[in-house]
Amino acid sequence: MSYVSGKTMIQEAWKNGYAIGAFTAHNLETIKAVLLAAEEEQAPIMIQIGQKAINEMGMKPLRDAIDSLIEHHRITVPVCVHLDHSRQFEQCMEAATRHFQSLMFDGSALPFEENIRITKAVVEVANALGLGAEGEIGKIGGTEDDITVDEKDAMITTVAEALDFSERTGVDYLAVSIGTAHGVYKTTPELKFDRLSEIKQAVQKPIVLHGGSGVPDDQIVEAVKRGVAKINVDTELRQAFILGVQEHWKANEKDYILADVMNKGITSMKEVVQHKIRLFGSNGKAK
Ligand SMILES: [Zn+2]
Repeated sequence: MSYVSGKTMIQEAWKNGYAIGAFTAHNLETIKAVLLAAEEEQAPIMIQIGQKAINEMGMKPLRDAIDSLIEHHRITVPVCVHLDHSRQFEQCMEAATRHFQSLMFDGSALPFEENIRITKAVVEVANALGLGAEGEIGKIGGTEDDITVDEKDAMITTVAEALDFSERTGVDYLAVSIGTAHGVYKTTPELKFDRLSEIKQAVQKPIVLHGGSGVPDDQIVEAVKRGVAKINVDTELRQAFILGVQEHWKANEKDYILADVMNKGITSMKEVVQHKIRLFGSNGKAK
């Protein structure tokens, strides 16, 4: 196994018309589910560490756990560890020193110029270290970690702001708002495909889709065709894990063997990760 820079991994996917699954992990069990799924599918993957998990578990314990589980399970596929939705320059730097291969600074809630200024600073460090860098322009609706963006505040990214942001920050891949949301959808999302194509045409860079959970499969396939090369999935994985645990408990009320209970969560989440990998077309792409 080797760790691969997010820049290399996403470029490779983008050039070859598939998308990398960026799967959020929260603890030992969810890291294991993602790694085993990727190995079985022979897919390059990103493991995302988000703000909620960092607050609860700590960045270092999670990062160390990824190293240990890769070694323990003899994982051979390319892995990229990604820092998701960081809102602090300092935290991005900490992740760089802890051998993350991809950094996201999310300044989408900041004034435009401030978002550009800090994102650019993160990109410069990422470039110097050979890491991938992601930035976000436009507000993606829903709740991510502890931050909620009301539907009325969610804004579809314009082509002009995407191009300006992309050129001035130099990000390697760009997260845009085209109708997806974080968390659970109240109604079926309808992605703005025309806008996606216009943005891709203008910026000529891989596009990142956040809020990948609950987007119908046919819309995901269409988004990949139109230039999306990284798709973030979190909510659906947590749902699968918890439902797996619940079902096991319903059937075995007296089972207090924690490892057995957790294994049901792992199995259930791993199936969803494998389904997503095939949907994104990254299966069999590990070299
Ligand atoms: Zn996100």
